[in-house]
Amino acid sequence: MCLNLKLLTSAEVAKPEVENAMSKKRNLLRRLTERKQEKRKLGSVDKNDYDRTDKEDALVNETRDLNRVESLNINLTDNNLPASIAIIYKSELDYISRCILDSTNIETGGQLFGFWTADKVPVVLYAIGPGPHANHQSAFFNQDVDYLTRVGRPIVEHFGLQHIGEWHSHHQLGLAQPSGHDANTMLSTIRDKHLVQFLLCIGNCTNTSSTLNAFNFSEYSQHYVKAQWCIKEIESPFRKLIDNELAPFLVHPRTIQANIENVYSTESQQNLPPEYKESYWFSIKENRQILKQIMDTLGNCTIQQDRDGYVYLSKVGNNYIDTIFFPDGFPKQPPRIKRRCSDNSVCEINVAWDNSGDLLNDFINFYSLVERYG
Ligand SMILES: [Zn+2]
Repeated sequence: MCLNLKLLTSAEVAKPEVENAMSKKRNLLRRLTERKQEKRKLGSVDKNDYDRTDKEDALVNETRDLNRVESLNINLTDNNLPASIAIIYKSELDYISRCILDSTNIETGGQLFGFWTADKVPVVLYAIGPGPHANHQSAFFNQDVDYLTRVGRPIVEHFGLQHIGEWHSHHQLGLAQPSGHDANTMLSTIRDKHLVQFLLCIGNCTNTSSTLNAFNFSEYSQHYVKAQWCIKEIESPFRKLIDNELAPFLVHPRTIQANIENVYSTESQQNLPPEYKESYWFSIKENRQILKQIMDTLGNCTIQQDRDGYVYLSKVGNNYIDTIFFPDGFPKQPPRIKRRCSDNSVCEINVAWDNSGDLLNDFINFYSLVERYG
């Protein structure tokens, strides 16, 4: 009887051209080695005085070219990009939601423990929140290091989980992704400590509900990837085990009931086309394309919708975050800009809005005034 082994991974198969290049290169290297061995046998050359023939030169050049093709193709297929999925057990998502709802106006955070699958997907099996001496500020969070050591060490050493990531909440700052500072810190830490890959989760909340977005980072890529949650709708097998064993040390959230909304998951409603008021400018396809161009021009910004379906952008600057809100009457009405600075002060920026009918240009002119304002 033969065993029908089907691997349930999402690992990508290398593109045929890369495989071709690699097998050609292997052939060439084999032929070069054979030539060298032949020459050595004939005594015409020693190791340090190897006189290449023209034919061998050609082979070496061809190998070099193929090396280039290979690395080019690898860059094109970008096998080094982090995974676009993250797995979490519902109990852990709930736990983090409760932690976030403990601190709806200030940053909070914690660590994530679990494993990585063979195709670089993180599996969150246990999450912890802030320790009693954690430093919560409105624009940053530092974990209580003693707490992390006291709790994290047995999780790794006794329970055999790995420290696979961190989470923190940008509470109501309007930033649903890592800040520029978050991303830079993450990339340099991964490189310095050779972590290979790391998961950073960013939470947001209202006064009554929270969300959590997952971002996968890799040592080999400058780009992080926003990952879709694959939520396992059961309690993590490690939750009760670790809760019981570490009961004297663990600090749990005060909020009893988790309340999670708008999670970007493999089964979420976010994958359905959102609904807009028919009169709203964003309901027109051409306008959506213009907004895409606006986002490309701005760089480093994300799009979100408020509860009423109105669209706003969060643009991360060097030491500020602009929330650019497109009201119901846009483009007759101007976009509204709120700027939150690194000292956490917030101000509205009012500059001239010229609605000439060319939305992209009008916006670029408008935003260059806003930037000058800062
Ligand atoms: Zn952050």
